[in-house]
Amino acid sequence: MTVVWFRRDLRTGDLPTLTAAADGAGPVLGLFVLDEKLLKTSGGPRRDFLYRSLQALDDQLGGRLLVVKGDPEEVVPKVAQALDTAEVHVSADYGPYGRDRDERVGKHVDLVATGSPFAIAPGRVTKNDGDPYKVFTPYFRQWMEHGWRGPAATSADTVEWLDPSQVSGLPRRAAIPEEKDGATVEAGETAALANWKEFLERVSAYEDERNRPDLDSTSRMSVYLKYGNIHPRTMLADLGKLRGEGAAGYRKQLAWRDFYADILFQRPDSARENYDKKFDKIELDTSEHAYELFDIWKEGRTGFPIVDAGMRQLDSEKWMHNRVRMIVASFLVKDLHLPWWWGARYFMAQLVDGDLANNQHGWQWTAGTGTDASPYFRVFNPITQGEKFDPTGDYVRRWVPELRGEEGKSVHTLKFGRPKGYPEPIVDHKHEREVAIARFNSL
Ligand code: FAD
Repeated sequence: MTVVWFRRDLRTGDLPTLTAAADGAGPVLGLFVLDEKLLKTSGGPRRDFLYRSLQALDDQLGGRLLVVKGDPEEVVPKVAQALDTAEVHVSADYGPYGRDRDERVGKHVDLVATGSPFAIAPGRVTKNDGDPYKVFTPYFRQWMEHGWRGPAATSADTVEWLDPSQVSGLPRRAAIPEEKDGATVEAGETAALANWKEFLERVSAYEDERNRPDLDSTSRMSVYLKYGNIHPRTMLADLGKLRGEGAAGYRKQLAWRDFYADILFQRPDSARENYDKKFDKIELDTSEHAYELFDIWKEGRTGFPIVDAGMRQLDSEKWMHNRVRMIVASFLVKDLHLPWWWGARYFMAQLVDGDLANNQHGWQWTAGTGTDASPYFRVFNPITQGEKFDPTGDYVRRWVPELRGEEGKSVHTLKFGRPKGYPEPIVDHKHEREVAIARFNSL
């Protein structure tokens, strides 16, 4: 008998951990630990999605997933002991908390790590001298050169699942919690594969249209990747069968995901602090007024249509289009001069796909403090960004009802005046841009 301890790999297809567990050890117990430390710091939408993913996984396992509340350092050894095994199979976790947790648990049991949530695990794509990359483009070249394995041929039938009710001495089984918190997207492997299949039909347009929030042309796979309802290898194998810029462009986005996981692995401190320490001395606004501005930004009442549309999409769908994430983040950092980690923390609480590596480094990229930093003097103009990437104005009209009477892209400029109920801009962008650049220049 052995154990498969699920963490952020909530599926049974393309799961090498199952192949390793099936290797001669007899029946397998599927375990998930509801770790209060992680749950407390996850936003409601993420917990909501996680619980529904667990339900879907339990269904796949014929109701035999053992869910236990507690500290993994206590729960996992107890489970192994009840089965009289020292081995616990996992897919490797490279995040700061996961590494620390696995080190603690690994003192009591033999954690056998097979595979990871990434196409290429952090630490594997390096320069010739073994140093990690700090810039995406050379990393990407090497990532393509390195290549990745094909999908693992596994399913729920790869192993014989133990029924926890038939094993004595196990920790108490918990019901899978429910938390309705806004994340409406369907969870689980079947939903992930269906969404992916639907997206493949339109991937050819991806590279041309991915920056257009009005067209809703991206895949919305981020949440499935976050919880491992699908493995990127499965996706890369499908993309490999296709020609054209769409599939190639999408592959590159998956490389960004691996890249940021690698950066966080190399520099766990970058989850909380500037990746580039040079920016530690930059002047930031943290007065009472700054908190008022922060609240207005969160509520989508800045008077800048695309910023407000993005923040309202986040509030409603618990997800936001990538281009708009960049615009609202730039606005917080460069127009309001607030610390990037305020915005990052808010995103992590709100986003259903909130992921420490992608989120903190998405913020740091925009703030100019991270890898591949956009040059500090390049400050997004929220009005021209809106005109360029939401040229129909449909995105803003969808999310800001006060502006539904505005036609075409004039919804961004509001040059004929502001409809009643829609706020004046909270800042003068031209002035704040100069302030931001002056603060950077003074470093
Ligand atoms: P698609 O365009 O269909 O992309 C496919 C996949 O590629 C995504 O699902 C994602 O896994 C990966 N990907 C795409 N863009 C990026 C990127 N810039 N960095 C890393 N991986 C990428 N992504 C998250 O998964 N979680 C986050 O918490 C997160 N926070 C962000 C915060 C900011 C400020 C910014 C600028 C970006 C953030 N991103 C985050 C990256 C990106 O916005 C989302 O991955 C993307 O919008 C998800 O939608 P999609 O699946 O339709 O993307």
